[in-house]
Amino acid sequence: MSEKIKVTVWNEGRHEKSNKAAQEMYPNGIHGTVKAFLEKNPDLEVRAVTLDDPDQGLPDSLLYDTDVLMWWGHMAHHEVNDALVEKIKNRVYNEGMGFIGMHSAHMSKPFRAIVGTSGQLSWGDDQQEIVWNLLPQHPIAAGIPEYFELEVEEMYGEPFRIPQPDELIFTSWYKGGNIFRSGLTYYRGIGKVFYFQPGHETCGSFHNPYVQRILTNAVYWAKPNDFVINRPTDCPHRKNPVVELEEAKKANA
Ligand code: ZN
Repeated sequence: MSEKIKVTVWNEGRHEKSNKAAQEMYPNGIHGTVKAFLEKNPDLEVRAVTLDDPDQGLPDSLLYDTDVLMWWGHMAHHEVNDALVEKIKNRVYNEGMGFIGMHSAHMSKPFRAIVGTSGQLSWGDDQQEIVWNLLPQHPIAAGIPEYFELEVEEMYGEPFRIPQPDELIFTSWYKGGNIFRSGLTYYRGIGKVFYFQPGHETCGSFHNPYVQRILTNAVYWAKPNDFVINRPTDCPHRKNPVVELEEAKKANA
């Protein structure tokens, strides 16, 4: 593995072009904001791209040089090329690339392809949200208190049509009475997946220090480890492992 963790922040980037409130909340785009807080960590090499960039922001040269892919999409999910989605899924399942879905990425083609269900949910008006930390011993929850408040966030409610998560780290309560599994993980193939709900385009969650800490923690958690990086991507015919170990001992003798 290269010494730096290579993170690519993919943002649809359309709300920031057409919605004044989104422009004012994120003048550098959601991708620029996420890139800026991640870059405070010198061991992360962060690239930020959008749907309207060449090759929809993810030419092979970038996708195959990405350890962790972060995804924010909403109004243009349908425009993302199916061939690109297949490549992303394959990178996660067979090559161990981490995938982090942010906010409305719950309905994105890559998230749905990777987890295997529709990702549909109930939603409602912006309101107070309290994020509860259910798994404080998890690396993604490091530095996060028992709960924290987001003054205003878009309501995402249960039932959330996802497979049972492998780990449920955060659950949110909304002032209107709804609840939502807002931070959860999946292990898919040899890759790791984290979904996190806060991050509506006109709410300030990406400026919140706890949200930033959670997403930063998630990058370190989701990166492939050395074993995964060096693993053959096909299905090799294995030698007898006992013979292989004996040969290695003789070679080292
Ligand atoms: Zn939203």
